[in-house]
Amino acid sequence: MKLKICHLYPDLLDLYGDRGNVMVLAARSRWRGIETEVQKKSLGEQPDYDDIDILFIGGGSDREQNLLVVDLQRHERELRQAIEDGLVVLAICGGYQLLGQYYQAGNGLKMPGLGILDLWTAAGDKRCIGNVVVRLDETLRAAADTSGESDATLVGFENHSGKTYLGEGIQPLGKVLHGCGNNGEDGGEGTRYKNVFGTYLHGPLLPKNPHLADLLLKLAWRRRGFAGDFTSLDSRLEREAHETMVQRILAGSHR
Ligand code: GLN
Repeated sequence: MKLKICHLYPDLLDLYGDRGNVMVLAARSRWRGIETEVQKKSLGEQPDYDDIDILFIGGGSDREQNLLVVDLQRHERELRQAIEDGLVVLAICGGYQLLGQYYQAGNGLKMPGLGILDLWTAAGDKRCIGNVVVRLDETLRAAADTSGESDATLVGFENHSGKTYLGEGIQPLGKVLHGCGNNGEDGGEGTRYKNVFGTYLHGPLLPKNPHLADLLLKLAWRRRGFAGDFTSLDSRLEREAHETMVQRILAGSHR
């Protein structure tokens, strides 16, 4: 069993060290003794979506998004099929926006998304910048089958002009306790559709949210029929970093 992670547009969509998410997924898989391969694909390159287990797309400025939007459209058919077949995807901010119907940037440019997620994004009149704490939706906590207090939240950092609105068919990852989240209006942050997780949380996200990293790995392993036990790791440091930030942010001492 080899776990294959593909990092799409690592040279263009990598705000706030989003590549750290790929490093965490690869490390937490290797620490469990699973051979893990990381592929990098950018403009003009397309992964074999039938042969990868996790796809990662990071965030980027309007300029970078516009540079790749035409190239990304070429992935639509294969990526849609893979997602419907359960491919695990983590998409951050700009990458998240482009999985939806469109992203209307602040300069009026309307970038077509892949239309795979039932959501749309339009730039607001002020940017959402700052730390974010999200209380995870119960269904997500159940899927992660964890019960620890620090598994009930996500913590990260947001910087986006886009306000994302979810269609009827999909739900947010959870409720914003601090920060904007999807749009600063409906209290939701991110979304999950099948095994696709979209979020505005940079940081990078996964080092301080090991429970989400492990959920993504579990889903990818199960999809490949991996029957082995999902050995738990000593995540004390990660959880301590998570809890420290959650408390600091909610105490208002860290805007
Ligand atoms: N350019 C998009 C926006 O401003 C996404 C930003 C990001 O990826 N952090 O909303």
